[in-house]
Amino acid sequence: MIRVGVGTDVHAYQPGVPMWVAGLSFPDEPAGLAGHSDGDVAAHAACDALLSAAGLGDMGSNFGTDRPEWSGASGVAFLIETALRVRASGYRIENVAVQVIGNRPRLAARRAEAEAVLSSAVGAPVSLSGTTTDGLGLTGRGEGLAAIATALLSAD
Ligand code: MG
Repeated sequence: MIRVGVGTDVHAYQPGVPMWVAGLSFPDEPAGLAGHSDGDVAAHAACDALLSAAGLGDMGSNFGTDRPEWSGASGVAFLIETALRVRASGYRIENVAVQVIGNRPRLAARRAEAEAVLSSAVGAPVSLSGTTTDGLGLTGRGEGLAAIATALLSAD
């Protein structure tokens, strides 16, 4: 049996906070991502895709504001715990694909590094790609960063 899942996330840019995306720090960025965690849209979209594929709900139902112990957790910490919960439900994680949508930071030069960090957290291959929206929409106007992800699981 195989199961596919989908996840999406968006966070607004917030000047003066650290930028974390795809498990990496970008210390030269003038703004980070707002949120009650590090705002790592790539990690969060991957978590939602994994939870979706396993039928385990979403980040809100697993780690939402009624679970304050997860407030401020890193995207990688969410991914590690999500992968544990997916495997505890009887699934193997085959792969996850994440696309980050927005203007900053530039991910291309650090793609291999990000894929290594995310793949280690998930315990399965995670591929990362990036795109922009030609100046259109909230990402094109530079208001925030978005990500979309799919995950593929298998079970006997
Ligand atoms: Mg998020």
